[in-house]
Amino acid sequence: MLTLARVRLEKVVKKYGKVVAVDHVDLDIKDGEFFSLLGPSGCGKTTTLRLIAGLEFPDEGFIYIDDRVVNDVHPKDRDIAMVFQNYALYPHMTVFENIAFPLETRRRVLNLSKDEIRKRVLETARFLGIEELLDRYPSQLSGGQQQRVALARALVRKPKVWLLDEPLSNLDAKLRVLMRSELKRLQKQLGITTIYVTHDQVEAMGMADRIAVMNKGRVAQVGTPEELYSRPADIFVATFIGSPPMNLIQCTIVEKQPLEYIVPPELEGGILGSGRVSTSTVLECREGLNIPLDPSLGSRLLGEGESEVYLGVRPEDTLVFKEARQGLGVLKTRVEVVEPLGSETILNIKMGEDLLKIRQPAGLVFQPGEEVYLEFNLRKALLFSRKNGRLLA
Ligand code: ADP
Ligand code: MG
Repeated sequence: MLTLARVRLEKVVKKYGKVVAVDHVDLDIKDGEFFSLLGPSGCGKTTTLRLIAGLEFPDEGFIYIDDRVVNDVHPKDRDIAMVFQNYALYPHMTVFENIAFPLETRRRVLNLSKDEIRKRVLETARFLGIEELLDRYPSQLSGGQQQRVALARALVRKPKVWLLDEPLSNLDAKLRVLMRSELKRLQKQLGITTIYVTHDQVEAMGMADRIAVMNKGRVAQVGTPEELYSRPADIFVATFIGSPPMNLIQCTIVEKQPLEYIVPPELEGGILGSGRVSTSTVLECREGLNIPLDPSLGSRLLGEGESEVYLGVRPEDTLVFKEARQGLGVLKTRVEVVEPLGSETILNIKMGEDLLKIRQPAGLVFQPGEEVYLEFNLRKALLFSRKNGRLLA
């Protein structure tokens, strides 16, 4: 059986000249976890993975595998296997020889006989469903088959840690979706600690147990897919995860004449507060949208100097009505553009210079220019600082 492994990074820094590719990164990846590094191109994902593999050395900080510092350990001795986006197979070798290669090069160290190597290759090929390809050459394989061979070559050594750098990005969209669930199943079957790099939030959300969202060399947030979606730590994470992204509406917290209202049960615990509320702080947004704030929340934010905020609402957390409607968080507006996507419809609505995207079930018909009433779900709405983008409430 495989030995599991924990991978830990402590304040790791990697610079290339003036570029800080990895900036004080802390990560703690558990035994057997499927962990994803997610972020836009250039945010430091590959560099982080190469540091863990030992292909790069950190300028500062420590890398641990289990409880051993591996900063100075040679890649060969880290018991790690890496699959790159360009998973170059050896073109002059058959599939069998390609998969056997990592064992052949270490035959002496691992003390393996020819028979044992053969057995391990067959076992791995069977596991990945490619036994019937063993005599072929890479040029005789489809993209998906080549990818499976590359995965087999990485797994045949039974490494402690599996590092995957955008391994599906060379495949066509349909195959990518198929391989996604296959990789997830494989990882769970093997129970091997896996670090999966991707810029595709759908991939990370669908596959990983936990995700680290990276931005400009730093870790913006670590969490389960559900945590990142419902409580993003800042506006970068809020808008990077989810498609369409979270709507951010510019608002200002102001003091007004005291106002009383009763929070409906389904909205309790959000920015409105709970029960019967008397408040003098109001969230003033564009187009006459005014939302009263829970008084302790309002005075806390004003006290912290955070009066300039974004109201964050997911596209699916807004109801749209054709008939006139009143209530807390209701806005009368017009539909700008209608995107019918088949399974759902995305309405585009202008609010000052902000463009809101609102998800509606398919079947409801809207026309561009049509007058509608939006009702934001204020229990799920979040507030972010306009000074630094941090989640405030
Ligand atoms: P990602 O994988 O997230 O796209 P990388 O880790 O490849 O990002 O790169 C992070 C930053 O470091 C980028 O600004 C990139 O240009 C820079 N970088 C990466 N590798 C090198 C290198 N070998 N020499 C100089 N700069 C590099
Ligand atoms: Mg990369």
